Amino acid sequence: MKIDAQHDFGTRECPGCACEVPANSNRCPICGYAFPARAGLQRGLPWIVAGLLALLLLPLLLSLAAR
Ligand SMILES: [Zn+2]
Repeated sequence: MKIDAQHDFGTRECPGCACEVPANSNRCPICGYAFPARAGLQRGLPWIVAGLLALLLLPLLLSLAAR
C-alpha cells in the first residue's frame, strides 16, 4: 500500500517563494527555505512538567513552612 504523504498532510505556503509545498517537508523544494521545526508541544512540555512539579511540591513546601 502506497501512502501519498502530500495528500495525507496537505500543503502550506512557503514564506520564501509563496509556493505550495508539502506540509510534511521541512524544506521548500523550490527555493530551499527551511521551515522552523514544529515545536509547539516540544516547547510546551517542559513547562507542563514544571507546572506539575510545582503543584506537587507546593503543598509539601507549605506544610514544611507551617511547621
Ligand atoms: Zn519556497
